[in-house]
Amino acid sequence: MPKLGTAAGTLEVLRKYDFHFQKKYGQNFLIDPNKLEAIVEAAGVGEEDCVLEIGPGIGTLTQYLAERAGSVIAVEIDQALIPILSDTLSEYPNVTVINEDILKVDIARLSREKNAGRPFKVVANLPYYITTPIIMKLFESHAPIDLITIMVQTEVAKRMQEGPGSKEYGALSLAVQYYSRPEIVAHVPAGCFIPAPKVGSSVIRLTRYEEPPVKVQDEAFLFRLIRASFNQRRKTLINGLGNAEGLAVTKAEAAEALSTLGIPENVRGEALSLEQFARLSDLLGKKGAAQYTQQCAQSDRQEESES
Ligand code: SAM
Repeated sequence: MPKLGTAAGTLEVLRKYDFHFQKKYGQNFLIDPNKLEAIVEAAGVGEEDCVLEIGPGIGTLTQYLAERAGSVIAVEIDQALIPILSDTLSEYPNVTVINEDILKVDIARLSREKNAGRPFKVVANLPYYITTPIIMKLFESHAPIDLITIMVQTEVAKRMQEGPGSKEYGALSLAVQYYSRPEIVAHVPAGCFIPAPKVGSSVIRLTRYEEPPVKVQDEAFLFRLIRASFNQRRKTLINGLGNAEGLAVTKAEAAEALSTLGIPENVRGEALSLEQFARLSDLLGKKGAAQYTQQCAQSDRQEESES
């Protein structure tokens, strides 16, 4: 099987297997060797690494990774690609393909079983329809992962890097920056894929922090607070939080907390830094968390009595 990563090589494989792209799986295969090299280089993949690749497609990036890494575990949802992958990766004994939805994979367990619990490097040309859920899963599952190098839509890459005041700044920026240091490392034009996506693409590297840059008493509450603050972007923070379901914070409590922090009452969520969200979370958290637990318990009881 020849090395993939060119238009001719990719078309040959697609024809041989009569493969039809599935739009629902966000399938855009890379056909530019320079960009493929650039991704592997940015991820700093070496023999000591076990790489977790999400969505290998026909195995193009996988081949490049397998040549440098100690081992590669590639998780692909589309069953039609599995026989193709056994062909295109037949010369790479260090690759394991798993036919599964990445959102259902227990990554911590995978690392215990395949990498003696050591951290993975995640490298992927992500399916764009589930970029955010995948990134959040990689972080929130607390699985051992020290570096994530991924191709995403340029707009989403920018959102991850932005700080307060920009229109791209939001819940994703804060979550990514809580867990990691983001750097856009390459831009990739639509012509580098088959089929060409309708949007521009960029490669972003997320270097995971050993400790988050801010300390909070209740991480889950911090993220509920952040989500609520950006759910209604046009509202002031006080109005947004006062209306937020599942947060159990009143407008008066939000106003008091802002005043304690010396933040103007009419502030919007997009003006607050991660540090300010962390302080706000600590001020509102205990009360909000207690009421939230009470609410959950009440609705559980209600569901039980209805069933
Ligand atoms: N890595 C290949 C490349 O660069 O040419 C293909 C990348 S393509 C943008 C995204 C891949 O992710 C497709 O192969 C698609 O089938 C797969 N995929 C989509 N949703 C997935 C999911 N939930 N879990 C695992 N793989 C998924």
